Amino acid sequence: MDNLRQMLATMSPEEFSAAARERELEEWRSINRFCGKCGSSMQPHANAAERALVCPKCGYAAYPKLSPAVIVLVTKGNKILLQRNTHYKFRNWTLVAGFVDAGENFEDAVRREVMEEASIEVRDLRYFGSQTWPFPSNIMIGFRAEYASGELTADGEEVVESGWFDKANLPEIPLKGSIARAMIDAWLEEQDAAQRDA
Ligand SMILES: [Zn+2]
Repeated sequence: MDNLRQMLATMSPEEFSAAARERELEEWRSINRFCGKCGSSMQPHANAAERALVCPKCGYAAYPKLSPAVIVLVTKGNKILLQRNTHYKFRNWTLVAGFVDAGENFEDAVRREVMEEASIEVRDLRYFGSQTWPFPSNIMIGFRAEYASGELTADGEEVVESGWFDKANLPEIPLKGSIARAMIDAWLEEQDAAQRDA
């Protein structure tokens, strides 16, 4: 398993953020050794405070880039949607997630990913929070959404199995420290509070 990923559960948010920044900058330098426009060797920006690599020949400047990915906790009554993905190294269950495509906003990406992976429509999207995810240069944007319509069906390609789970029947869930786990934990607290109030 990736070392930083493994350490995520035990690091403070500040430690993780610093390690993530190092990791992302290292990746950025390694993929920008040559100018993407003319192929010349890139150099650090003359102003050291400017975080950019610059092409001395054509002037193209490369700044660190992140790939945004949405992740969504879909609820249906007192249950949540969890699924197992084929391409994950980790076999536990997790939330629907995927990269934002060109021309999409985050909400479009949430609706598309849920439709593609689970064949359902969702409504009432609400922002949850975000997390840097340096594997290698991503940022996860978390949403909550309510089930609207359709029959839950795993796509069979990316997702091998999916289901609705209430808090008494949760399968193995993502590691502490991940935004997926934070979203599930927040939902669990709501469930406990609802039970206390009932
Ligand atoms: Zn160039």
